[in-house]
Amino acid sequence: MGRLGGLILFGPPGSGKGTQAQLLVERLGCIHVAPGDILRAERAAGSPLGQSAAAFLDRGALVPDGLMIDLIAGRLAAAPDHGGFVLDGFPRTLAQAEALDRLLHRLGLGPVRAVLLDVPEPRLRDRLRERALAQGRDDDTPETITARIAVYVAETLPALAHYETLGAASRIDGTGPIEAVHQALMAALAAGGVAAAVDRGAER
Ligand code: ADP
Repeated sequence: MGRLGGLILFGPPGSGKGTQAQLLVERLGCIHVAPGDILRAERAAGSPLGQSAAAFLDRGALVPDGLMIDLIAGRLAAAPDHGGFVLDGFPRTLAQAEALDRLLHRLGLGPVRAVLLDVPEPRLRDRLRERALAQGRDDDTPETITARIAVYVAETLPALAHYETLGAASRIDGTGPIEAVHQALMAALAAGGVAAAVDRGAER
């Protein structure tokens, strides 16, 4: 893992974090750390972590900070030497953001840049309804979607504010076509000084 740190994608459920992270991985070769994907895989495998997380996933509630912080610490510490990483779904609380600061410091990583994918709620609900039909994700029911949006506002916006206070956050319009959002994201990274990190990923 390089010393330049990476990108934290913020945005409500359905805002396109996973899609944009995947594009960055394909085009720039960054590492993608998506705790939601990890938790769903652990659950499918029936691991102890998956079993602990299942009840939270089903309610659209957050998995406890301690479990998530250990999970992310393991993934980042084990990541191969690299120029950039994308976090998609972590941190989701202020405590997770503060733990991430300490972790990045301890691992000699950083600085990070946060980018919010801004999408209004009616569009989110439309997209999540489509995703439920296409992918059959257990937690894309109307009730859990409502819960996850509420959790995002109450718990995750304070984590974003942490990076805004540090001057390390940007907001971009997440409603356009995938490619347009990608270009806006690249522009936000370049303006925020993260281009060097993602360029190094591209050299591999
Ligand atoms: P989305 O952003 O569409 O809600 P994710 O796949 O990122 O979907 O997350 C799905 C679920 O995984 C969340 O509702 C939550 O239960 C759990 N989860 C993911 N990331 C975290 C986290 N950082 N802290 C606590 N729980 C998390």
